[in-house]
Amino acid sequence: MSEREHVRVAVIGSGFGGLGAAVRLRREGITDFVVLERAGSVGGTWRDNSYPGCACDVPSHLYSFSFAPNPRWPRNFSGQPHIRAYLEHVADTFGLRPHLRFHAEVEHARWDGDALRWEIETARGPLTADVLVSATGPLSDPKIPDVPGLATFPGKVFHSARWDHDYDLRGKRVAMIGTGASAIQIVPAIQPEVGRLSLFQRTPAWVLPRADRKITGLERWLHATVPATRAARRGILWGIRELQVSAFTKRPNELGLVEAVGRAHMRLAVKDPALRAKLTPDYRIGCKRILLSNSYYPALTKPNVDVIAAGLREVDGATLIGSDGSRTEADAIVFGTGFHVTDMPIAERVTGADGITLAERWKDGMESLRGGSADGFPNFLTLIGPNTGLGNSSMILMIESQLNYLADYLHQLDVLGGEIALDARPEAVAAWSDHMQRRMRRTVWTTGGCDSWYLDANGRNTTAWPGTTAEFRRETRRVDLAEYALLRPPAGRRTPAPAARTEEAAV
Ligand SMILES: Cc1cc2nc3c(=O)[nH]c(=O)nc-3n(C[C@H](O)[C@H](O)[C@H](O)COP(=O)(O)OP(=O)(O)OC[C@H]3O[C@@H](n4cnc5c(N)ncnc54)[C@H](O)[C@@H]3O)c2cc1C
Repeated sequence: MSEREHVRVAVIGSGFGGLGAAVRLRREGITDFVVLERAGSVGGTWRDNSYPGCACDVPSHLYSFSFAPNPRWPRNFSGQPHIRAYLEHVADTFGLRPHLRFHAEVEHARWDGDALRWEIETARGPLTADVLVSATGPLSDPKIPDVPGLATFPGKVFHSARWDHDYDLRGKRVAMIGTGASAIQIVPAIQPEVGRLSLFQRTPAWVLPRADRKITGLERWLHATVPATRAARRGILWGIRELQVSAFTKRPNELGLVEAVGRAHMRLAVKDPALRAKLTPDYRIGCKRILLSNSYYPALTKPNVDVIAAGLREVDGATLIGSDGSRTEADAIVFGTGFHVTDMPIAERVTGADGITLAERWKDGMESLRGGSADGFPNFLTLIGPNTGLGNSSMILMIESQLNYLADYLHQLDVLGGEIALDARPEAVAAWSDHMQRRMRRTVWTTGGCDSWYLDANGRNTTAWPGTTAEFRRETRRVDLAEYALLRPPAGRRTPAPAARTEEAAV
């Protein structure tokens, strides 16, 4: 990167979001953009999570871009290597390589109100951009809890999203911390080879059967030669999930039937009533993410596995002390404890028009207009921003909706012409946020009786989308300029000028 490089759009991150944005920009005829990625390859989530058993839990034909169908998915729920290869393929097929800047971690981005552009500091040098798109992902920065005494542990410690493949687990006493989506894939994958597996379970998960199977050669051939068949498959997968939404968002009591399936699924695999009691959740299914596995419960019944129905309270040398007072010796600790979701690290690094960071703007909870624009952060969009997460369907549908919004945003800037920027009006952001919180009241995430990573420190759900993906598509189809203030450079720009923003009436 040269000293003075300027681009129209800078995208941060090269996972599904960043790559999707890059494809969309090229399709809109925009080639003056870069994708800034801190790592050395594309893939995001699917580059970083390489733990044993890692796979998607939304079927592959839906968990992929609509504009880049893959007739060759090997399974209903394809594994991480296939999804990562798919994203590499997208980067090649859509000519994205010239735009990718690897090892270019964004250290800071600051809005320059005089020049109406973003000044971006990266590990590879500075650049400026008219528009900044953050696609750093909600599940990108692993979270390891601050467990007292952890530093005294003499063995190996790592997070599920940073798996240490050089560490040989065979015969070892492994403590797995957490029972979320990653942990339930890891447990059955490593149980046969470890000496002893101690699973620290603070809250049991609802686990349903996983309709996984190989996609046959005939199906793959059909999908490759008759595109309508793969479109139909995707359409059915999408439609089923859309129909499920109202139970999550409006009628959680209907989910009682699904709980019966979960209990039967457990009974078939776990014969010991004491173990079943430990594994039975006491909250409504769906309140936390529903997990899919056919191998998790069977793995927990094996003689080399202990379920400790407690959180990890403390570590004392090689001894792990549970919140129930139990003591467990281990050679390795694997944290499956999730990510910085409601406290995204990128928010600390983006400074808006008023000189405050996005993290400061969000100190009372994340909020953005239509999941993308925060007031005071002109020409800035977050992909998979606040209240865009899904409990039961593909995040790629949400990303593609936001890409429509991004395309229209850039189009509006073109139409307005010249030196102008868009800044979400605070009242529009507040109205959107209130609308989200009102809709949240009846959802299973609010009423289901659990504490989940959907909720922030204030107990507000600022992560999940309380509707169907079709509704979100409608809400993000166009930019409504009435929701934005138009900013122009102050008079006398480029000479030292007050940092004040000049607002004009929205059109
Ligand atoms: C194990 C796992 C399984 C999942 N399974 C599913 C599933 O089945 N279905 C589903 O819908 N969703 C699933 N998800 C959610 C998943 O996160 C999203 O579907 C999607 O992959 C997010 O894409 P993204 O591009 O927004 O973020 P990411 O894939 O997380 O990519 C973010 C990128 O930004 C980069 N980055 C971050 N900070 C900086 C910085 N400061 N400077 C430069 N680069 C930076 C990161 O290195 C990364 O490459 C899963 C998540 C995990 C962790």
